[in-house]
Amino acid sequence: MLEFGSINTDKVESQKPDIEGEAEKVRVLILGSGPAGYTAAIYASRANLKPVMYQGLQAGGQLTTTTEVDNFPGYPEGVTGPLMMQDLQKQAERFGTDVRWGMATAVEFSKEGGSHKVWIDDEKIIEAETVIISTGATAQYLGLDSEEKYKGFGVSACATCDGFFYKGQDVAVVGGGDTAAEEATYLSGICKKVYLIIRKPIMRASKTMQERVANTENIEVLYEHVTKEIVGKQAVEGVLLTNAKGEEVRKDITGFFVAIGHKPNSDIFNEYLDMDNTGYINTIPGTSKTNIPGVFAGGDVQDKHYRQAVTAAGSGCMAALDAEKYLGERY
Ligand code: NDP
Repeated sequence: MLEFGSINTDKVESQKPDIEGEAEKVRVLILGSGPAGYTAAIYASRANLKPVMYQGLQAGGQLTTTTEVDNFPGYPEGVTGPLMMQDLQKQAERFGTDVRWGMATAVEFSKEGGSHKVWIDDEKIIEAETVIISTGATAQYLGLDSEEKYKGFGVSACATCDGFFYKGQDVAVVGGGDTAAEEATYLSGICKKVYLIIRKPIMRASKTMQERVANTENIEVLYEHVTKEIVGKQAVEGVLLTNAKGEEVRKDITGFFVAIGHKPNSDIFNEYLDMDNTGYINTIPGTSKTNIPGVFAGGDVQDKHYRQAVTAAGSGCMAALDAEKYLGERY
């Protein structure tokens, strides 16, 4: 659970351009359109709060970059990420959510919980009684061209989402933190062999996770190895690494999992909201409440531990219920 009350010391003032004309007033403004945002929208619109959603840069969120989603309850045959997001959008719109293109570029939150101003695309101002932040997080990638080329064809940033497709095969995980150790352990139960590629001579993951990795027979840790290139024809067939001696090493794999951290999409809020050092928004444990009354957060922007579609949807539901309660208590 995130620690509430720790303050990000690295606050940046967001730019708030002068815009002519009246601000549009809304009761519930939802920022971001992943499972958290759409679930918040379904609940808020069913409560007749007429939510307005701005979809953000990547409409549908991170799931639109995955292929099959097999672990969201209620889809016995699985579903593709993009189709699931389309269904969620249709469901939110059926109850009256106003779903719009555009992204929040600056905010001015009222510390006393009055109306909160949000700039959209530096062109329009919304004055919202409540704001639900569900802007998600972005997986960090190594930045290799080959990694970009094979995204969805062997390169993934989520073992829980995609590991199943590599059943009985050899795969690699890159990263030395808790996520990488967890992903490697998870994959070891599905795959024949898992290479864990770590750039340093040590693993940053917690002791427990390190022990778990060490005690798993089919995980081979490659310390001081740097990924040079991912190779293959239509899909991933291998990875080229450079070892500490500067030699090139090739490992034949069909899946390459990147686990080098996520960056929550929270920069524009950091002048107002309590966050941890990475930028995850702190919420009061057991709720979606931030330190600003009327501003709520759900999904990956406030969750560095679980990061699943279903947990994001659950926390989006919490945010809508918390917003509804807050509005009810104000009048
Ligand atoms: P971390 O930032 O902890 O670790 C990132 C890892 O990726 C580090 O080993 C880092 O290497 C490596 N890395 C970064 N950039 C590159 C690169 N370009 N090439 C190769 N390797 C790279 O991220 P995590 O996602 O693992 O964890 C984030 C937070 O979430 C942590 O606080 C963690 O403890 C927590 N967490 C907790 C879990 C749990 O309690 N169950 C599960 C998952 C995460 P280097 O060490 O050299 O910098």
